[in-house]
Amino acid sequence: MTTRNALARSATKPSEHNRTGVDYHAPMPRPKINGAPIDSHVHITASRHGMEWFDAARHYGFERFTTMTPLEEAVELQRILPGLLHFIAIPKWHDWSDGFIERWRQRIADFHQMGSRIAKFWFAPPAWERGWRLDSDQFRPLLKEAISRGMAIMTHIGDPELWYQTKYADAAKFGTRDDHYRMWENVLQEYPGVPWLAAHLAGNPENLSLLQRLLDRYPNLYMDCSATKWIVRDLCARRDEAREFFIRNQDRIIFGTDLVTGDQRDWDFLASRFWSHRKLWETAYVGPSPIYDPDLPDDAQPIFRGLALPDDCLQKLYHDNALKFLSSVGATLCDTPR
Ligand SMILES: [Zn+2]
Repeated sequence: MTTRNALARSATKPSEHNRTGVDYHAPMPRPKINGAPIDSHVHITASRHGMEWFDAARHYGFERFTTMTPLEEAVELQRILPGLLHFIAIPKWHDWSDGFIERWRQRIADFHQMGSRIAKFWFAPPAWERGWRLDSDQFRPLLKEAISRGMAIMTHIGDPELWYQTKYADAAKFGTRDDHYRMWENVLQEYPGVPWLAAHLAGNPENLSLLQRLLDRYPNLYMDCSATKWIVRDLCARRDEAREFFIRNQDRIIFGTDLVTGDQRDWDFLASRFWSHRKLWETAYVGPSPIYDPDLPDDAQPIFRGLALPDDCLQKLYHDNALKFLSSVGATLCDTPR
């Protein structure tokens, strides 16, 4: 194939994030809410991504963020985007050699010093494979460190159900979903009353009755609706039930995208996730999803079915609940328009 043909082919091949030819640059009015809309689950991984990130996010109306950013990058981002970010305390990723618990504990203290009031604990099935148990004595010093400083806890426990049937099928290695949720409930019961944020609809958007049981049992529990492909796939598959769940629990669900920045992730990639979330929550759009879902066969890609949530529900989802959660640990985000 000639270079010219190869170029022509790649130019016509639909991209991962735009199979349907959406014009992500077309203007979209900001969400119809009072105050500045907040994306409460992002990973701005480097300060050099900050400006492009902010430009794409602002195009879709989002100007305030709660981010999982490495400590080394957070200070610079704080300088570039003052008042717009709340940093979540995370460990130095891949730093799991001897003494990592103490280094992680120190990070929680360092993040707290720069204003962080949420500490994140990632305990998805690969953590189980590593032998990590959040309810064990090994991790207790970390939970204690955060809680004694008055911080909220954020956990990621479950992953997509499809993965339990495929890459996590070996229960001897990864445990079962029941094992993971038992571990999580052990710590929820050990620390009642601590504000707790469960990422990705508590890691199980496929089972809304389980989520309802958790919300009913733990009044301190909030959930974020972050992730794009996963959330679109599984909420659209049970659209009416999902809409009812969001309306019923409208005081407990916080908006987030789970967007992860990267040097290869351009403006359109970032925009595709914001576009999808806005369509999902605010409209009754029915049609193909613009983002390719690698967990589904090519001929069974998800059908998008927007939830068209009522205005008062969107107000809480995009804004009020995030500020309520932050204020429960004495934190806030600047709420006046920039
Ligand atoms: Zn995330």
